[in-house]
Amino acid sequence: MRHEISVLVPTPAYSRLSGPLTYISEQALPPGCLVRVPLGSRDTLGLVWHQAPEQPQTSCANLKTIHSVLHGIPPLSPHWLKLIDFAAHYYQRSAGEFAMACLPPSLRDMTALQIERKLSRLKPLATVSVEKALAPALTPEQTQVLMQLAAHPGPFLLHGNTGSGKTEVYLRRAAQVLEDTPQAQVLLLVPEINLTPQLEARVRQRFAHLGDAAIVAMHSGMTPAQRLNSWLSAHLGRARLVLGTRLAVLASVPHLKLIVVDEEHDPSYKQQEGARYSARDLAVYRGQLEGAQVLLGSATPSLESWHHSREAVSGQPAPRYQRLSMPSRVGNGVLPTLQRVDMNNQPRKTLISAPLLTAMRERLGRQEQVLVLLNRRGYAPVLHCTECGWKSECPHCSAYRVFHKGDRTLRCHHCSLTQSVPSVCPACGNQDIGVIGHGTEKIEELLAELLVDLKRPDGSPLCIARIDADSTRLKGELVRQLAQVHDGHVDVLVGTQMVAKGHDFRRVRMVAALNPDGALFSADFRAPERLFSLLLQAAGRAGRDAQLSSAQACEMWVQTFHPAHPLFEALKRHDFAGFATQQLQEREQAGLPPFSFQALLRAEARTQQAAQDFLTAAKAWGEARLGADAASLRIYPAVPMSMQRVANVERAQMLVESYSRKQLQQFLSAWQEDLQQLRGQHKAVQRWAMDVDPLAI
Ligand code: ADP
Ligand code: ZN
Ligand code: ZN
Repeated sequence: MRHEISVLVPTPAYSRLSGPLTYISEQALPPGCLVRVPLGSRDTLGLVWHQAPEQPQTSCANLKTIHSVLHGIPPLSPHWLKLIDFAAHYYQRSAGEFAMACLPPSLRDMTALQIERKLSRLKPLATVSVEKALAPALTPEQTQVLMQLAAHPGPFLLHGNTGSGKTEVYLRRAAQVLEDTPQAQVLLLVPEINLTPQLEARVRQRFAHLGDAAIVAMHSGMTPAQRLNSWLSAHLGRARLVLGTRLAVLASVPHLKLIVVDEEHDPSYKQQEGARYSARDLAVYRGQLEGAQVLLGSATPSLESWHHSREAVSGQPAPRYQRLSMPSRVGNGVLPTLQRVDMNNQPRKTLISAPLLTAMRERLGRQEQVLVLLNRRGYAPVLHCTECGWKSECPHCSAYRVFHKGDRTLRCHHCSLTQSVPSVCPACGNQDIGVIGHGTEKIEELLAELLVDLKRPDGSPLCIARIDADSTRLKGELVRQLAQVHDGHVDVLVGTQMVAKGHDFRRVRMVAALNPDGALFSADFRAPERLFSLLLQAAGRAGRDAQLSSAQACEMWVQTFHPAHPLFEALKRHDFAGFATQQLQEREQAGLPPFSFQALLRAEARTQQAAQDFLTAAKAWGEARLGADAASLRIYPAVPMSMQRVANVERAQMLVESYSRKQLQQFLSAWQEDLQQLRGQHKAVQRWAMDVDPLAI
């Protein structure tokens, strides 16, 4: 018996061959089976798709035969196929490309035999005789939230202050779900596992009674072999708890009963290349699809999620999420007070103002730790010649190369071009080259000078450390450096936003943001939201040990030229809700998300003109396609991207916006055809890509 089987293969994103291909098989194969099939001259991994071939073939003469079936791996579930189908459509990619990207990379090259061997080597699930770990007694707020989680299906948004015990809620809810259903599996998503090494330890300890194999991690920093192990373990139902980054939301988890998205506001949930999906949004969709409870949590929720969890108003559509809140810190810990330094009253070019320095010295004198936040790594953002005006521009990008004093290099943060610092001006030979602006390295150096007279109790000098993308380039460095902060080795920690996230630093009672003003007046409408979240999260690193007397109370310091800005007023009151309401009003008036829906079409070419020509043609074709519908969907003119040139490639983008998500989706799908045809006519365009629900504009 010959069967025609439709199979997804790794076709390029936008190629014409974007649908499933038809192959012949001697046996019937259920959807979700993994197979090996010929594609061109290659032999490749394929996935039996759930939709019949689009055009039933009348003659099988030209059809190729499936080489082999990977019998060892049970078929992927209908739910998973549906998830892939939805996500590929929504984010405008081919289903084949998307599905293959969700499978562990090493699976792509394995034969049926290799897989059989791999499976036979899986460790048997050992029965464990570990006593259940003791959990702390819940706070009243935690109890209340857990009751709600048990009583309602969700999805939920848990708005819990920093240090309110959200993680404890996730662990308890996970434990309940795992206990209620014998086979249940839980997905716990975090923005970046590397940033929170303590969390994995905490999870492993809490669920030690399930056995070591029942908890797996999933993130891009793992080796291909580790990733395959985790994936198989989840797919076979052996892993009960999967702790992963955004890519884990697309893993096969057949008995999924709970998805937790921790720090749901974090931009790293959005994939920034290839299929640009939002793991948070897919988590919500997936929960609905599979009947799994979804719990989003944050101290500073995204304005999208905040809006979706607004109070119900009769006559208006029901909110999508149920909002839960935990306003208090565990153990009645106090929240930091805000001190603003008006930089208008400080001498020009002050980096660290006198009042801030005094406060810092006082705290350090009491052996407290201080966290200094600056959103720019390197020593100085620009090197320049005082004689001829030469600046350290990158020859390949529309950006300056940053001066790194440590290894005396000029480094482009976009194309990574690295050269040693010239000793004289490359343009005029002048020996007097100076710096403009300042980065974490310079602040680290400056603080060392300003605090040189302070000593630790044992008489040794203070330890000033820096954590940013440069200091943590080597594997394991971040974990090592964070551990040093934790065990009290470090007195002053200078860092970028990296240090603001999720750490549970015990002795930090003062956090200072040196220069946060840039984001107050940014062209990106999400900049204030991100700044507020960063500052509130950073403030949340202070005073996490509850045994603080009020005299030691913790503080957040902000140096600003705009001390009366509403954002700082709201920050002072720890008033996320007030800030969100004000921002959402502005967004509603301006017709911005979450009140409208956006997509960005991007193009890259050797010249800006070529990139824009492609976009402009796409706009014309798109508008023709819209016809009478044009009023409800707007295509803006093409513009250069804010980072216009990277590694000698010119980049342009074009915004598409609609008040109806459905209409935007329908338009984008139909428009694909135009874009593919236009691409053929615009040979100078190197790449184009669609970003649905873009995070940065
Ligand atoms: P969040 O994730 O909301 O910032 P965590 O869950 O990390 O907060 O909790 C903050 C601290 O309080 C952690 O050290 C945690 O162990 C502790 N904690 C959480 N819940 C309780 C509780 N019910 N009793 C005692 N300590 C708790
Ligand atoms: Zn010069
Ligand atoms: Zn560059």
